[in-house]
Amino acid sequence: MKKEQLLNIAQEFGSPVYVYDAHKIESQYKRLTSAFSNVKNLKINYAAKALSNISILKFLKNLGSGLDTVSIQEVQLGLVAGFKAQNIIFTPNGVSLEEIEEVAKLGVQINIDNLSILEQFGSKHPDIPVCIRINPHVMAGGNTNISVGHIDSKFGISIHQIPHILRIVENTNMHINGIHMHTGSDILDIDVFLYASEILFETAKNFKSLEFIDFGSGFKVPYKKGDIETNIEELGKKLTTRFNEFCESYGKELTLAFEPGKFLVSEAGFFLAKVNVVKQTTSTVFAQVDSGFNHLIRPMLYGSQHEIINISNPDGRERFYSVVGYICETDTFANNRRINEINEGDILAFKNAGAYCFTMASNYNSRFRPAEVLWYNNKAHLIRKHETFDDLLINQVTVDLSKKKSAVKK
Ligand SMILES: *Cc1c(COP(=O)(O)O)cnc(C)c1O
Repeated sequence: MKKEQLLNIAQEFGSPVYVYDAHKIESQYKRLTSAFSNVKNLKINYAAKALSNISILKFLKNLGSGLDTVSIQEVQLGLVAGFKAQNIIFTPNGVSLEEIEEVAKLGVQINIDNLSILEQFGSKHPDIPVCIRINPHVMAGGNTNISVGHIDSKFGISIHQIPHILRIVENTNMHINGIHMHTGSDILDIDVFLYASEILFETAKNFKSLEFIDFGSGFKVPYKKGDIETNIEELGKKLTTRFNEFCESYGKELTLAFEPGKFLVSEAGFFLAKVNVVKQTTSTVFAQVDSGFNHLIRPMLYGSQHEIINISNPDGRERFYSVVGYICETDTFANNRRINEINEGDILAFKNAGAYCFTMASNYNSRFRPAEVLWYNNKAHLIRKHETFDDLLINQVTVDLSKKKSAVKK
């Protein structure tokens, strides 16, 4: 999107505000499908938790995407957005048997990631097909917070426990229709991903009536200059060859599934915030915006570097700033960053604000969560109003605390 377009949106809808470029989501979706165009049955299930606004879900549904969900509430949002139950997969971690049963009742594909629930679910519902989430114990990326395939991870059933899985399947006579892995959020090296895929193929051989193999996600997009980006095109070529070979030896055309979140929506998003104060200290210049980690927590939570541009003064000379927020807590967005000269009142645009930004926002400091705007067909559409004071009160229950009698014993 152009800087002027973003600036107009900040003026029209106020700040802070999230903006999503529908065209970017579409081009990322098409990049992925064309990289795997030689796979006969390809299924992209967008990971709803990255950005779960109904309009975004609908937009992805219209592109042909399915939906990957991690809670029954995400399933329900998907149904509201118009996804058919059979195009939704439920990949929770540590949720109750009751919740899984409720989701299964809706007709959604269940994906189970622990032996306890597998055995209980299989015993009670042997007729409902189930996918199994495997942990191939392959490290993807270097950050253990966002890498979920390693040995200590709470996600998935270890490949070393396959004999136990097979025993449960045999004892319960349940039907396994899919094998799944999701190794983490940062695929830096395609060979690592392909190595994990080989483990998945080996695992798949144990199950005779599969319909799909789900390779999860972890596609990396660049956040800052010099970042490595997953080479989707090369991965497409290599994995397609291996997948088609596998289907041949398996004797059936399986569906190849992915569930990307970040790849589809990260770069489509911009977070716009206004500079309230430029504050010089003895060691730095702070630019303080009308936001904080209550609206965008990734820099504080993961150390993520979101590129920040001054769209109010894009040609100003560059100076060094620490961009921080306005909440009463350390809420650093950027340290010692080179940005075009900032004046109070300028609008800063944070890039890569599509994935895991709004969905992680909170009301901390009793601030409202921002509005969301979708840029589509050269027009800005409001897709979520910013909150108002009523939203802060809506679920609070007022008790009568006026009674004179003191509860405190003298
Ligand atoms: C979060 C999640 C994804 C999406 O991961 P990205 O890194 O955003 O692509 C995919 N699958 C599962 C099971 C997830 O929990």
